Amino acid sequence: GREWRLLSRPVGWPKPEDFELAETEIRRPGPGEVLVRNAYVSVDPYMRGRMSSAKSYVAPFELGKAMQGGAVGEVVASEAEGIAPGDHVLHFGGWREYAVFDAKQAVKVDPDAAPLSTYLGVLGMTGLTAYAGLLRTASFTEGDSVFVSGAAGAVGGQVGQIARLKGASRVIGSAGSDEKVKLLVEEYGFDAAFNYKNGPVAEQLRAAAPDGIDVYFDNVGGDHLEAAIGSLNEKGRIAICGMISVYNNTEPAPGPKNLARLIQTRGRIEGLLVGDHYDLQPQFVQEVGAWVRSGELKYRETVVEGIENNLEAFLGVLRGDNTGKMIVKL
Ligand code: NDP
Repeated sequence: GREWRLLSRPVGWPKPEDFELAETEIRRPGPGEVLVRNAYVSVDPYMRGRMSSAKSYVAPFELGKAMQGGAVGEVVASEAEGIAPGDHVLHFGGWREYAVFDAKQAVKVDPDAAPLSTYLGVLGMTGLTAYAGLLRTASFTEGDSVFVSGAAGAVGGQVGQIARLKGASRVIGSAGSDEKVKLLVEEYGFDAAFNYKNGPVAEQLRAAAPDGIDVYFDNVGGDHLEAAIGSLNEKGRIAICGMISVYNNTEPAPGPKNLARLIQTRGRIEGLLVGDHYDLQPQFVQEVGAWVRSGELKYRETVVEGIENNLEAFLGVLRGDNTGKMIVKL
């Protein structure tokens, strides 16, 4: 089977030379282990962080070894109790065709309950991030006016729709193309949306939210965060989920210049890490799963085919090639 390895730590934008797609022997599973053939592999912005050696909340990828990430696949051999060939599992052995690992690290998923790819997106990690970040970190309450950046992406698209379904007074999104903006308003039911490449974010946000915002869900950082602080209402809340605009910077990005506004508004900024919120998973799957089935919550996936395109798919997420969750289909 083939697997992607990190050869050198990228400086700035990752380059193809920093990686290799290598052929490896498929090991038989040992006691307690399973062998899985991956069907769908996830590529996510946080993986850029794992390519660097900087200390963070997940360990850096090891040089010369297979990279990791979320994946869903079919068990082809099992030495573990309770998991049999033919079962489908969600696990962390992505970036490769076949994975062998301790069955304790796998969660069984039902391909008849929902399409397998959705366990990586709308019903998976990015969905839970949206749900927990909005409801818990940002303390969303009915009547709030909510602004989300990266709004046509996996997390952002779901944040805006959950806010709408839970009674937001206004939902505003930003994204990087006119086509994405159209999707937000016409399909996802946002009240307003703008293309951040069409002009200054602060001006476009003020026009889209003339009465200000109560919640900002930040996927992007930079100008977006500064603009959101500028439009924040009293007791406003900002959930810092991601800062994709700075992930490839080689120098630290300047912080927002208007933090003093938090005094006037008694505003709050709080970071969010999805790993802290898995206790919400059953409630999330139940509530969001029902909205997905009823069609009240829409989702998109951008599916790239072939393990050989795994790296390009990842780079595509950083560039904004995706609408909704970016997934590699093997
Ligand atoms: P997305 O599906 O949103 O893909 C990333 C998107 O970011 C791209 O599609 C692109 O869309 C946008 N983007 C890229 N560069 C810029 C830029 N310079 N300015 C503005 N937008 C940009 O990814 P996810 O939904 O998986 O993740 C969204 C964010 O959430 C990321 O920051 C990620 O790191 C974070 N995250 C955090 C978690 C946590 O636990 N804290 C868990 C999961 C995700 P466009 O065309 O609109 O530019």
